[in-house]
Amino acid sequence: MAYLQLKGIEKFFGGHRAIKGVDLTINQGEFIVFVGPSGCGKSTLLRLIAGLEHIDGGTLTLDGKDITHLPSAKRDLAMVFQSYALYPHMTVYDNMSFALKLAGVSPEVIRDKVDKAAQVLNLTQYLQRKPQALSGGQRQRVAIGRAIVRAPKVFLFDEPLSNLDAALRGQTRVEIAKLHRELGATTIYVTHDQVEAMTLADRVVVLRDGLIEQVGTPLELYDRPANQFVAQFIGTPQMNVVAADKLGPVAPSLQAAAGQALPAGGFVGLRPEAVSVRHAGQGALSGRVDLIEALGAETLIYVTTETGAQLVARQNARSGLHAGDAVSLEIDPAAAHLFDAKGRVQHT
Ligand code: ATP
Repeated sequence: MAYLQLKGIEKFFGGHRAIKGVDLTINQGEFIVFVGPSGCGKSTLLRLIAGLEHIDGGTLTLDGKDITHLPSAKRDLAMVFQSYALYPHMTVYDNMSFALKLAGVSPEVIRDKVDKAAQVLNLTQYLQRKPQALSGGQRQRVAIGRAIVRAPKVFLFDEPLSNLDAALRGQTRVEIAKLHRELGATTIYVTHDQVEAMTLADRVVVLRDGLIEQVGTPLELYDRPANQFVAQFIGTPQMNVVAADKLGPVAPSLQAAAGQALPAGGFVGLRPEAVSVRHAGQGALSGRVDLIEALGAETLIYVTTETGAQLVARQNARSGLHAGDAVSLEIDPAAAHLFDAKGRVQHT
């Protein structure tokens, strides 16, 4: 069931068409993540949904009601910002209860709601502190708590974790995931962070230049990207995309596995885990190691083949290889993605 529906949504900044007619259907309880390169329109689309920017074209409906031009305060949505936007002179309790007070909710009901949210967010012991006496992660939890107590129809998050250090970002990400499991609230979340997108999302929306490139579950996007852009945007390190003629003797077997020939100028996409690298010996492709990145649990091996292709391979074991070593490469033909010269996926 469509809960939040975007139809032909457009936004202009002066003469610049920043959002170019976006259609998207979000179901109740879904966790949707917007990703895409800087400037693609993620935040703008979120702000249009929030009512913080005027929608210049198209319609937006929430729970069957047209809210395209409804003022932000009347949309029953709550937004959590990167900057937290807490009131510095108020305690955590007052920050969290402020919107309810304004709405004329009774003090008993407010206490009950704030206490429950504080419990869920592990903030009970901080309720009488002011924001400056909290860590960044705690402040962000207060910002989330302030949204929760309002029990909005939709939660909107704009890069909520990007001001936190890596460890805290990881912890808070897990908390957000747990919270979503507990509350089941419809959520839209903008991020730059691949791991956040892949771990939090029921569905990921990949945006580029004001348009949607693909919508799918994290693994659908990873396993079946619709085009080269999505293929290279999702996954770290990036998918290897190599001109087919640079794969020399391997190209025919990849095409055979895919059941089709590549058109002239086509490309082959290989996730780093689809490439394995061994000390020189048997193997369809030979090359030389440019660089090894030993990350502990996994090793990334950057290789240039004799045919001129540059590839990165990922393996779980320590490689025992060094920069400059001569190597053989094995490629899993079943894992190859074929793209035409325009980057469109070649369907079998
Ligand atoms: P980032 O990941 O860098 O935050 P984003 O995907 O969120 O980027 P937006 O901030 O939505 O991108 O911006 C989309 C486009 O609209 C960009 O080209 C940006 O320069 C432009 N833009 C955004 N806000 C305004 C504004 N208030 N006035 C003029 N142009 C704007």
